[in-house]
Amino acid sequence: MPPFFEPMKDFFKRCKEQARGALFPAHYTCEICRKEVFDGASFCPACERALPRNDGFFCKKCGRRILEDFPVCLECKRELPVYTAARSAFVYGGEIVGLVRRFKTGAKYLARTFARETEPVFRAEYDFSDFIVSVPMSGESLRRRGYNQSALLADELSVRLGIEHRAAALVKTRDTAAQKFLTLGEREKNLTGSFRVHERKACEGKTILLVDDVLTTGATANAVSRVLFAAHAARVLVLTVASVPQRD
Ligand SMILES: [Zn+2]
Ligand SMILES: [Zn+2]
Repeated sequence: MPPFFEPMKDFFKRCKEQARGALFPAHYTCEICRKEVFDGASFCPACERALPRNDGFFCKKCGRRILEDFPVCLECKRELPVYTAARSAFVYGGEIVGLVRRFKTGAKYLARTFARETEPVFRAEYDFSDFIVSVPMSGESLRRRGYNQSALLADELSVRLGIEHRAAALVKTRDTAAQKFLTLGEREKNLTGSFRVHERKACEGKTILLVDDVLTTGATANAVSRVLFAAHAARVLVLTVASVPQRD
């Protein structure tokens, strides 16, 4: 599939999701099975039980689920990520995969759901942050998708946490080839020099919360962290909806 053209299937899906977002305000139906919910929860009890919450053992550095209670995972032991720490609400699997896909293909209203799910993770795992940044998109990608899902999530979290989202702090200077089929090394190379800090002064000595939908290889989080640290940020805390568990 050519990376720069949205397949028609995705286009129609996006239209459908946008219509659904307008017709069904959040909080009334389960985001997965559409059954009615009454207590303001995102999911009905049955779907909630099946969700892969990242609440077991996790790596204290990258936040990925691990099978045994070790301080850090094997990947972090091999090479420590650039960011200070990363945490996620869910393991990237099960129904979460479809939800994240919908979030990227028109279901903008899921930003509210995901903010509701990630807020407690921030409060439990991080003490504070001076401001929030989201992963910027290049102008071309933004035109293609019509919105930046990372920025939408950051906006919603900003309201919930009472922490400013500095949406203009970072810019993506060039479009990067689709990352899907690249290894971590290739991804890092692909991203090198593609992010730039636009508000350098604001970053000096600050604890910055970087918000994104999924932590996959961590290449994006590393690339963004690298430029934030180059602008003298003190700490970069990463918060994502989901993270890919450690591979054995
Ligand atoms: Zn349900
Ligand atoms: Zn790790």
